[in-house]
Amino acid sequence: MRKEHLFEGMRGRIDDRVILAMAKVPRELFIPESYKSNAYEDTPLPIGYGQTISAPHMVAIMCVLLDLQNAMQILEIGGGSGYHAAVMANLVKPDGHVFSIERIPELVAQARENLRNAGVVNVSMIEGDGSTGLLEHAPFDRISVAATAPRVPEPLKQQLKVGGKMVIPVGTTFQELILLKRKNGFYIEEKMGVAFVPLIGEHGFKE
Ligand code: SAH
Repeated sequence: MRKEHLFEGMRGRIDDRVILAMAKVPRELFIPESYKSNAYEDTPLPIGYGQTISAPHMVAIMCVLLDLQNAMQILEIGGGSGYHAAVMANLVKPDGHVFSIERIPELVAQARENLRNAGVVNVSMIEGDGSTGLLEHAPFDRISVAATAPRVPEPLKQQLKVGGKMVIPVGTTFQELILLKRKNGFYIEEKMGVAFVPLIGEHGFKE
């Protein structure tokens, strides 16, 4: 599929700012050689180590739900290829920053290279268990979780600013994409059924 077709199909359903940000990030740079020709199909693709880069429409929907604006501090759990982080980085630039945590060291190295090749400067790709968050850079305006959790990890709730928002898939066979808002308390909206790889860690699933 050609790039224009993918984004044309999103028009009217996805916020224009998000489509524009996605159009600026070359998805082919985040995809292994053997799948590059599929870069602009609206489907998840393997990135090695049993993991996948999310489908473009899923990245788009999660970005829309988070309402990303300039200067925001973002935490992403499940950096994978770095693509989703690059799109969010585009939406919060020039003053915002994305901290992305990935547990598989080889993917961290690959994602850093991908981000460098794409010229993205406001993402820090960090190796570790993101289910515990990233205390040294907390609190965050937005948290985006790209792996499904048994329940919303408590540390992530605590590291969200008051007025902040988090998107996170929750569940096993049946997963629900949840939008969690922190105001005077925590408010949850169930958005849609989804299929993500498991969040593996202290506040996720056990290995
Ligand atoms: N956002 C990614 C898609 C990532 S798929 C992209 O744009 O390519 C989900 C990723 O979550 C996988 O790479 C997996 O290794 C990672 N993951 C799973 N559990 C994790 C944890 N506890 N901490 C950090 N990363 C985790």
